Amino acid sequence: MNGATTSGELRAHNRVRLLRAVHDCGATRTRSQLTRDLHLARGTASVLVAGLAEDGLLHEEPAREHVRGRPTQVPGPHPYGPIALAADVREDAWELAACELGGRVTVLGVRPHDGTPEGALGSLGEAIATHRRRLGHRVIGAGVALAGPVRHGGLVDIAHLGWRSVDVPALLASQTPARTTARTTARTTARTTARTTTARTTTSTTTAAGTTAAGSATLVVGNDTAFAALAEARRGRLQGVKVGLHLHVDFDLGGVLVVDGRPVAGASGTGAEFGHMPLTGDDRPCPCGARGCWSMGVGANALLRHVGLAYGGGRGREQAEHVLATSQEAVEANARVLGRGIAALVNAHDPEVVILSGHGPELRERAGQALMEACEPVLMAIRRDHPPRIEGSALGWRGSLLGAMESVFDDFLTTEGLELWRKSHPDQGRDTPDRQSVTHSTLAGEKPL
Ligand SMILES: [Zn+2]
Repeated sequence: MNGATTSGELRAHNRVRLLRAVHDCGATRTRSQLTRDLHLARGTASVLVAGLAEDGLLHEEPAREHVRGRPTQVPGPHPYGPIALAADVREDAWELAACELGGRVTVLGVRPHDGTPEGALGSLGEAIATHRRRLGHRVIGAGVALAGPVRHGGLVDIAHLGWRSVDVPALLASQTPARTTARTTARTTARTTARTTTARTTTSTTTAAGTTAAGSATLVVGNDTAFAALAEARRGRLQGVKVGLHLHVDFDLGGVLVVDGRPVAGASGTGAEFGHMPLTGDDRPCPCGARGCWSMGVGANALLRHVGLAYGGGRGREQAEHVLATSQEAVEANARVLGRGIAALVNAHDPEVVILSGHGPELRERAGQALMEACEPVLMAIRRDHPPRIEGSALGWRGSLLGAMESVFDDFLTTEGLELWRKSHPDQGRDTPDRQSVTHSTLAGEKPL
């Protein structure tokens, strides 16, 4: 039951359902398909679409192909509609993108950084503030993915960069003008509550994230692997999977269990840390403070170490990619460690599928035999007849950024979020010269970062 008791509440509930359906299908389904999917009457769907278009949330375009009869309309993002800013902060660079309803991504900028919290997050905060000013009221929030455990509230540790309890919202906000409004204060407070209690988990689909205020819109900060897994569950190979494992390989390896489409976050939000389990018999100290962590044997750092090159500190991406392309021995050593750890996790969790992202698919493609030869003997006998599939991500390196985007839209696509948008955009349905200056074509930005 949705809990709606009045016609107004039912309409508000159906507005959320319709926008959610448009977003989840990537704005590819026709109005009549969506009407059937959501079990709506045709007249109800027409009224809902008209209202959402008037509020600047939806825009219909004729379908590219229709067989016969009246032209079919496909609801998609409004040209002046909501935008989620999403960032993927890697150890050596960040990428920032503008994402529309339906998931269309426009990359706004990619910038290398020096590996310090101030160097990485200061420049990102500045870029987010710039695009918020440029895109104005269209920005509904920002999602930021980071390569380390993120506690509720946005404190992150990235061990091999020496980051300890780095306050991500504070560093981003130091570049953002303080113009918090009553509207956004109320909205942010409500959402922080939703993330830190279990009573409202229906509105919080990325539990491995912290939400807080930064400037004038919602900010969601989360772990890159958990975000990649969330995106895979929404738009990739974890769709419809009850229990799956997602492993993301970059400088080291992160892993998370995904149950019913949700990454399991742990009590404090730092649950996506399979890379820091002693799964492979190693005993070396890990920068995280533990010993023998699985992630020390998989990823760019391990590839560089294998061939005797300097590693760590988020440096050496290009050299590691060269090793990945040219040193079969280093690749097979990585793949064996990966395979052995996968088997241990499969024994524990019994997943339907194991998804690899980042460098993971290339390790599997280039050394699949070594991976499986290390994996199979470690599997329990009861697992060997029907081992889970091991597959490459459908989203590649884009997963973490897409997961950050999904998390912002999860906060927005609620009756509360849509009502706040409607109240703050009373003239949304009318074209004005001012609003016409902000269109799809300007999303990419006339001004380079
Ligand atoms: Zn560790």
